[in-house]
Amino acid sequence: MDCLFCKIVNKEIPADIVYEDENYIAFKDINPKAKIHLLIVPKKHIERFDKIDNYEDVKITSWLFNIAHEIIKEQKLEGCRLQMNCWKDHGQEVAHIHLHLMSGLKLK
Ligand code: 5GP
Ligand code: ZN
Repeated sequence: MDCLFCKIVNKEIPADIVYEDENYIAFKDINPKAKIHLLIVPKKHIERFDKIDNYEDVKITSWLFNIAHEIIKEQKLEGCRLQMNCWKDHGQEVAHIHLHLMSGLKLK
């Protein structure tokens, strides 16, 4: 599948990975908009949140917040912005669901 984040999941292209388990991966955004800017991604290819048509994929997506919470606690982050862009007209460049976790002074 020609999907950038699937390629990162499959280690076909490199990324600076900060968290990984059986079903999820989190890595540093290549073009950070904050001091800390991570992308938290389900390994399952789900294109976009507004297109989900089954509860299983809603649950998979909801768990992204649990991982964000774990990272926030582990890295002792104070303050953050959590953002999911859905559909290209709304800022989604990569058609594989991901949650942005941004924290730090450079927030734009
Ligand atoms: P979106 O605009 O889809 O919500 O977010 C996609 C994010 O992926 C952007 O913030 C962009 O900087 C990031 N990105 C694009 N290509 C790469 C890449 O090859 N590696 C990493 N780590 N991040 C990328
Ligand atoms: Zn994908």
